[in-house]
Amino acid sequence: MSQSLLEMAKDLVLAQIEAHRLSPEEMHQALQQTYTTLMTLQAQEGADGSVPVATPQIPPKPVDWRKSLTKYQVTCLECEQSYKQLSVRHLKEHGLDGRSYRIKYGIPRAQPLAAKATTVKRKEIVQRSRPWEKAPTFLKAHEKAQQSGVQRKSTARKRA
Ligand SMILES: [Zn+2]
Repeated sequence: MSQSLLEMAKDLVLAQIEAHRLSPEEMHQALQQTYTTLMTLQAQEGADGSVPVATPQIPPKPVDWRKSLTKYQVTCLECEQSYKQLSVRHLKEHGLDGRSYRIKYGIPRAQPLAAKATTVKRKEIVQRSRPWEKAPTFLKAHEKAQQSGVQRKSTARKRA
């Protein structure tokens, strides 16, 4: 600011006197009021003397996808809606899929687009249901093991 507040206030009041909107008698009061108003305005200014504006001058930081994945929800970085997981159908609404969404926001390919709790729960379910045990090779090996167990039992019974 090149002018002091008092100078600004004086200039403003003088301008009003010149415009015949103010008598010289009213000047003192007007000067006080104007000065107070300017003080208030200055207080509203930032510490660096810049007047805050509605639009931020600093460009928004790149989105941190890690913040979009919390324990109980995942926030879609496109529309900021929260879900338990980002479905393929939802991403399609943004013209994206799991792959392009991850690329766009720099998310690792192995990162599930789901709430952490959901991911953990799914792992638990997988471990509990043991889908690999339904694989034909495993079933065959398991059957054999059971058969030999039955045979062992029957021989044991014979012996008894
Ligand atoms: Zn979305």
